[in-house]
Amino acid sequence: MAGSINVPLVGVLALQGDVREHESALRSLGAKVLLVRRPEELARVDGLVIPGGESSVIDKLSRIFGLREPIREQIRAGMPVYGTCAGLILLADAVLDAIEGQQSFGGIDIAVRRNAFGGQVESFETELEVPELGDEAVHATFIRAPIVERVGAAARALASLPDGRVVAVEQGNLLGTSFHPEINGETRFHRRFLAKCI
Ligand code: GLN
Repeated sequence: MAGSINVPLVGVLALQGDVREHESALRSLGAKVLLVRRPEELARVDGLVIPGGESSVIDKLSRIFGLREPIREQIRAGMPVYGTCAGLILLADAVLDAIEGQQSFGGIDIAVRRNAFGGQVESFETELEVPELGDEAVHATFIRAPIVERVGAAARALASLPDGRVVAVEQGNLLGTSFHPEINGETRFHRRFLAKCI
């Protein structure tokens, strides 16, 4: 653990996806950030953000870079991890509509369906109520987003669309959102993640 008590050193998994946006969100909150591409880097951080992007690509690259097993071990050991969109898919114990051979790291007792909003309405923005984050609604951007289809006993839904479909979950030190707070200047999820890293 390299971070001091009050300033955690947090990693952003930097294999593919919107790494920079997470890096700036975390820095704006005063965290020290390390881009993680190697096991030695993972070993130094107090927590990890898995960005949005393409989950099957991040999965494949994590194996090529020798990060898959170290990440799984850290998750088991209780390291805080926050995943957005593709990152949420990678944290799910079960992935529906995965491509052949696609695996997740797992950790959150949920099943997610990739690209759940289908062809025509692949991206949209909406206001979400997230009681755990206070009264002010979260402006949420969904980009070819997954939906949480099953929330197991160990996990907890933090937010749902008006039709009841779950789009944010938490399980202990693991946090995941179907949408991308990092591109809207919404920092409350990152704050919640950082609080777990201290
Ligand atoms: N559809 C992508 C996937 O399956 C996720 C999209 C995103 O991260 N914005 O990985």
